[in-house]
Amino acid sequence: MQAKFFDTLNLLSKFSFKKGANALRVLSSYYYSKFTKQLIHSGLPISIAIEPTTSCNLRCPECPSGLRSFTRPTGMLQADLFRKVIDELQETLLYLTFYFQGEPYLHPQFTELVKYASERSIYTSTSTNAHFLNEENAQKTIQSGLDRLIISIDGTTQETYQAYRQGGKLAKVIEGTKNILA
Ligand code: SF4
Repeated sequence: MQAKFFDTLNLLSKFSFKKGANALRVLSSYYYSKFTKQLIHSGLPISIAIEPTTSCNLRCPECPSGLRSFTRPTGMLQADLFRKVIDELQETLLYLTFYFQGEPYLHPQFTELVKYASERSIYTSTSTNAHFLNEENAQKTIQSGLDRLIISIDGTTQETYQAYRQGGKLAKVIEGTKNILA
């Protein structure tokens, strides 16, 4: 409860006059279009999702990355493209979801890219299987200014954990989580 309260305060601290005005433009055009049935699109994205990589070290059976079944190429986000997008949207963008399918920490510049967005007052969120949260990466994560970190712990024993997180090690996930907390 307390964590949620501080998280909300943190999110609100990212607001600026320009972001607020943009959000109002987006919302008003949405409601105008909804009630008049005339499509009007105004403003820039309030929130975007960017996938750092499509690759993953695990083999989860419901995930295209785990199944290696993408119809698009497996690869890494180009840092220059990321910076260009952030530069273009930084004045109006509030929230960056920095994951989708694939393990974000496999991107060699992941925490640097988080820092780039974070320094521009954009709320950053990611999700990880925590196999790469060694002490160094945990330190870099904190220093990057990342606002929200979701760690997938899907079992309380190695047996239940690996029923879905195939190829994963529960002990490693717990160790990575401890590194972040430390
Ligand atoms: S850890 Fe995440 S990205 Fe990797 S295979 Fe599992 S669900 Fe997919």
